[in-house]
Amino acid sequence: MPGPGSDHISNLDPRAPLVLDTRELGRRPGSQREVTRMVPAPADLGIEVLGVPEGSQVELDLRLEAVMEGVLVTGSATAELVGECVRCLEPIEDELSARFQELFVYDDRDHDPDEDDETSRLEDDLLDLEPLLRDAVVLALPFQPLCSEDCPGLCTECGARLADDPDHGHDEPIDPRWAGLTQLVQDQEED
Ligand SMILES: [Zn+2]
Ligand SMILES: [Zn+2]
Repeated sequence: MPGPGSDHISNLDPRAPLVLDTRELGRRPGSQREVTRMVPAPADLGIEVLGVPEGSQVELDLRLEAVMEGVLVTGSATAELVGECVRCLEPIEDELSARFQELFVYDDRDHDPDEDDETSRLEDDLLDLEPLLRDAVVLALPFQPLCSEDCPGLCTECGARLADDPDHGHDEPIDPRWAGLTQLVQDQEED
């Protein structure tokens, strides 16, 4: 029974795409099962500037292995990525491949829920892959997504995308007395 103040969710839905049933595996250490599934991406899979679109297909290749303490899950996820370049804001489309490994401990012994909340646990032979997938995807993302490694970004004077116009230049630096006005014009153009 969850203790007071516990946010432990005790009922996983076995039909949920990211919930796996490990019953078939049995509890004999060493028994293994390979699982490949296509699942729809859950919401907010990624970071603000780059992520897997909700509902797009994520391919999971998993190996489940019974060990003494529980079930060891080793696998990889392949998914579509969309986002924007942090330098020039151009849309980015890419493919992501993330690897992960996690031990899901059998939950049939009484345990103190405050003991260590970091442990992943099986619940009635079910395990929830979503937190694992989420962590693996975020870790595999580039910190600063770029449209190309040497993206020159935007012109600091007029905001043009320099990759489209490599010879871009301004004859004279804009007179600082006019800079404020230029900014004002740009703001109006963006509206
Ligand atoms: Zn760029
Ligand atoms: Zn410019």
